[in-house]
Amino acid sequence: MRRSRKVKILATIGPASSEEVVLKQFFEAGADVFRINMSHTDHALMRTLVGRIRAVEKDVGRPIGILADLQGPKLRVGKFTRGRETLKPGQTFTLDDNPEPGDGTRVYLPHPEILNSVETGHRLLIDDGRLELKAVKCDGKSIGCTVIAGTSISDRKGVSLPDTDLPVGALTEKDRKDLDAVLETGVDWIALSFIQRPEDLAEARKIARGRALLMSKIEKPQAVARLSEIIELSDALMVARGDLGVEMPLEAVPGIQKQITRAARRAGKPVVIATQMLESMISAPVPTRAEVSDVSIAVFEGADAIMLSAESAAGSYPVEAVATMNRIAEKVERDPLYAGIINAQRTQPEPTGADTISLAAREIAETLKLSAIVSYTASGTTGLRAARERPQVPIIALSPILNTARRLSLVWGTHCVVSPDATDLDDMVNRACRIALEENFSKTGDRVIITAGVPLGTSGSTNMLRIAYVGAEEHQFPNSGRDGQIASPASSSDRVAT
Ligand code: PGA
Ligand code: MN
Repeated sequence: MRRSRKVKILATIGPASSEEVVLKQFFEAGADVFRINMSHTDHALMRTLVGRIRAVEKDVGRPIGILADLQGPKLRVGKFTRGRETLKPGQTFTLDDNPEPGDGTRVYLPHPEILNSVETGHRLLIDDGRLELKAVKCDGKSIGCTVIAGTSISDRKGVSLPDTDLPVGALTEKDRKDLDAVLETGVDWIALSFIQRPEDLAEARKIARGRALLMSKIEKPQAVARLSEIIELSDALMVARGDLGVEMPLEAVPGIQKQITRAARRAGKPVVIATQMLESMISAPVPTRAEVSDVSIAVFEGADAIMLSAESAAGSYPVEAVATMNRIAEKVERDPLYAGIINAQRTQPEPTGADTISLAAREIAETLKLSAIVSYTASGTTGLRAARERPQVPIIALSPILNTARRLSLVWGTHCVVSPDATDLDDMVNRACRIALEENFSKTGDRVIITAGVPLGTSGSTNMLRIAYVGAEEHQFPNSGRDGQIASPASSSDRVAT
């Protein structure tokens, strides 16, 4: 099975998609990575879902990435005696440290450190901005506000503080428990919500100890302001447009999306565009024109992945949403303008073997119209650098490590296959050619370009390029299982083009 597109599709799973049959339909319709939202998933359900995804992975014979998205310090007001209150613009309303149910004048804010850090003049956006308050009187125990816009507030609504530097790290007590549980269950990626500063990654990094990679969700203006430092410490980025569009003016989000996508591409870190991509498909079998256009922008921009949220988790047309995204991506990538737009954002290689070899591999593959770039990559780093080049030809990443293959399923243009380290140079060439053939990237007689590191199997040593013909009839490989036990046939199978 191979995809006929470069961008990856990330599907959030939820009530509409928690059964194994639906998860399999998701994969078949185009989902490459599955996202489990820990805001709505308890540990038992999370384990069940991971088990089902792994069963689908086994069934379809392709590595699947799992992203566990931690809730992060999402602030919420307490409850109201009547559940809901109606407010009037201009009136005063107070958030305080009194756990009693609220009324039309006040409500509990169960975050003492926040009561302490909001200052006069700061905005408080309740319920995704539907209610806007402005702090006028702050005494450390309560925030007296004026209602600026909106009229309704109800139990446990979210509070966004775009003007306030929050004295909280990115992990709450709940996140720590969730993190331990998801790491134990063996997810591949962890998404961190509401990070504000580079230091916010440190604790999760320490707890993860390399068991999973970290994706920073950019959804606060404070994170946008320190983007390059955050990118440097992250393994991937998410343009979390939902909360970003609450904390910043909506019209600023498209530019920030481009800024983050380009910066992530320059750094060679996967970047995911998220939220409301096909929002209307929550309740309709077809998307709007505007949504199709929105998805296309992310694809044209060269984002690594496009994400479905409620469309796939809780909508009425979850499989259709995945299939629709797949169709849009395939079509956009075949647009005559696509390659030129992608290439316009290409950046220079950094002075490393992996980068310069990846650049050369792309140029050779495109010039000679080769059928694939086959990159041997143990840790995944060379796979990432190959993808950073955004080549027109597919990248086949070969790693002996299943976790690497699962992680790379998020990465643009990369088809991952688990394969043991080559035993010698002939085996390296034969194995690459055989897999390109088996995975339907090449036909007999096509050529591929192979990147690898010698000595073989040494991580971080990418230092060679080889052009090879894919097994002509007379060079059938014996024992063509993917079990690494191939006795390498004659070297005639890799006639080197000159
Ligand atoms: P969420 O994150 O769905 O967890 O809120 C994505 C976003 O804010 O866009
Ligand atoms: Mn969010």
